[in-house]
Amino acid sequence: MNIINPGPEDYHIHSSDYSDGKNSVEEIVKHAGKIGLKKIVITDHSQATIDKMGWHPHGNREDIVDWINKYNNIEVSFGVEADLLDRYGDISSKIQFIEGDFLILSAHRQIFSDDEKDITEAYINALVRYHYKIKFIGHPTYRDFSKHLDMKRLVNAANVYGKPLEVNGLRFMKNDQDIDQLRKMLSLANQVYVNSDAHNLEMLETSRKTAFEFLKENHYMD
Ligand SMILES: [Zn+2]
Ligand SMILES: [Zn+2]
Repeated sequence: MNIINPGPEDYHIHSSDYSDGKNSVEEIVKHAGKIGLKKIVITDHSQATIDKMGWHPHGNREDIVDWINKYNNIEVSFGVEADLLDRYGDISSKIQFIEGDFLILSAHRQIFSDDEKDITEAYINALVRYHYKIKFIGHPTYRDFSKHLDMKRLVNAANVYGKPLEVNGLRFMKNDQDIDQLRKMLSLANQVYVNSDAHNLEMLETSRKTAFEFLKENHYMD
């Protein structure tokens, strides 16, 4: 199993400008520089979640081009945590009608309209249809679906399409993931990302650390 980002690179962060993060893009970029991150991708929730949850973030998506190297030498880019919508593998992948060039495929219970037992089919269909633009599969160990998820099938499909799966720091902080499914994922996956899924500045520092501690303690890395 290969960890794509063992260094100071975080590819899953939420902001208050575009979804439910507590801090603005400006605060995130400044803080990321302070704690030594070199590359970050701000991946806010898709429009489907924003609408469903009734959030009203004020950021204009057209402003994101201004952020590259504004405060420090961190490489900053913007993506979308796309939502799996149904068992056919339809996804919501835009914010304000703009699709980021870094798409995470995630399933959230509030947005997925079909039965939980359809989750494996949904992931596979989305991979078949959108693998060319999906960068990785976000938190597939989330307890909302884990009882029904055929992890082996999902990881096999991800491996076939060359898609990494995510070890998600926030799930350790919130203690809402299925550890058995995580172990299964780690034993089968060719590639994984380790990201914070930070919704505030503190998590930007702590949540990847917690994930790496788990990986070290369990001998998935040295
Ligand atoms: Zn998520
Ligand atoms: Zn997220």
